[in-house]
Amino acid sequence: MEKKIREKWNEVLNFLKEDPYLGTVSFDTWIAPLTIHSFDEKTGVLTLLIHGDKMEDRMAASYVNKRYSIFIQVAVEEITGIHCEINITTPDSVKKKKDEIKKIPQAAYHVGLNPRYTFENFVVGRNNSHAHAASLAVAERPGDEFNPLFIYGGPGLGKTHLLHAIAHFMLKDNPQAKVVLVSCEKFTNDLIDALFNNKKGMSTEEFREKYRNADALLIDDIQFIINKESTQEELFNTFNTLYESKKQIVFSSDRPPKEFVTLEERLTTRFGWGPIVDIGLPDYETRVAILRKKEEMLREEGKQVNIDNQVIQYIAANVVSDIRNLEGSIQKIMLLAKLKNIKTEDIDLEQAKEVLKDVINPHSKREITSDYIIEVVSNHYHVNPSEVMSKRRSRNILIPRQISQYLIRDMIGMTFDSIGEIFGQDHSTVMHSVEKLESSLTDDDDLKKSVDTLIKKINPG
Ligand code: ADP
Ligand code: MG
Repeated sequence: MEKKIREKWNEVLNFLKEDPYLGTVSFDTWIAPLTIHSFDEKTGVLTLLIHGDKMEDRMAASYVNKRYSIFIQVAVEEITGIHCEINITTPDSVKKKKDEIKKIPQAAYHVGLNPRYTFENFVVGRNNSHAHAASLAVAERPGDEFNPLFIYGGPGLGKTHLLHAIAHFMLKDNPQAKVVLVSCEKFTNDLIDALFNNKKGMSTEEFREKYRNADALLIDDIQFIINKESTQEELFNTFNTLYESKKQIVFSSDRPPKEFVTLEERLTTRFGWGPIVDIGLPDYETRVAILRKKEEMLREEGKQVNIDNQVIQYIAANVVSDIRNLEGSIQKIMLLAKLKNIKTEDIDLEQAKEVLKDVINPHSKREITSDYIIEVVSNHYHVNPSEVMSKRRSRNILIPRQISQYLIRDMIGMTFDSIGEIFGQDHSTVMHSVEKLESSLTDDDDLKKSVDTLIKKINPG
């Protein structure tokens, strides 16, 4: 079977190249360079290699796995008739591959991990793909070349979730591993107990045993170490001990190391010895995916939840900064359904707006949605929004349609697919008209002025 896959590999690649959902850039970057390592007939796993063993390659491998393995799987099956699981890896990892254990072991609960904060439950988007890939790489090979890992980003964007996911994964791999995941505050309190011989707390020996003998130390919200001199001193020593014995260290923080202005330099430089990755705000599609993921998780826990698509879109369009508020919105919808004794899918947009009004305040600032953009652009050109969204091809409609699509892409970052859905067009038609408009903007000053005016109208802040 491996022979057959190898023989037909070029056909598989051609098939993938034609896939409209993949796009040429993605194909050329991620798929074309892959080579076949092996096909295991017993497990049905087809292992593909990304060449190189550097950090970037390993991050790329986990990224490609997550994003594209399903495309490759379908293509292989289509061309060769062989059903397989795809595993993309680097040559070096192939050597060290361990079997993955499916269940979360008991040990996970002992270190106080949130069972929901796993990689499986983490939605990967453009905003967090690097942080995710680096975390996964660390989880797969702790203490290796991504040490320490420093993750930073604003509140509610998934830092704690990723730290727990790393710990879960490491414990799955090795239930005996001493994985210590603590908040900066806990680390400080343990230290204070040790220093002042607090009888209820830990002794100095226990402190050292816990932290300096860890296989992995993950400290959440490390920014709280600012202005705590003795904690800094102890962290410095702990860091050196762990680092020298090649134990993994992970920090999360609300800011990058260079913004730890008052911190001792020997610590900030150490924070940057490994990769520093940030998590940004999720875009619209990622927010929708997170909402759907949360619903799925709730259903797995036995809850009845299936929120109307319009309501999901309304939440995703308006709750932009803290993922906790996305979760909170779902809870509110569920509570309302319970109070009304109806199903969540029967809550309509009007009811949703009413119940979400303290999370989403339409009076403080007009929220930017695709509908709103189309409305403003249509008013500006004195045409009807429904015509702009129709398939009519008259000239007076074409420009507002193109501009609307461009602005929806530019201002709220929707994908071409989702924009296509609004306008009843396919993904490549939308992409072309957005690209065309983009290139006209560089040499048509009047058009550029109109677009700038529109942006101000849509987002006066
Ligand atoms: P932070 O530590 O950055 O403040 P958390 O990790 O506590 O944020 O995340 C807040 C909430 O949002 C958690 O419930 C978490 O599960 C959820 N969350 C954050 N990012 C994601 C994501 N990419 N996919 C799914 N859930 C996420
Ligand atoms: Mg946190």
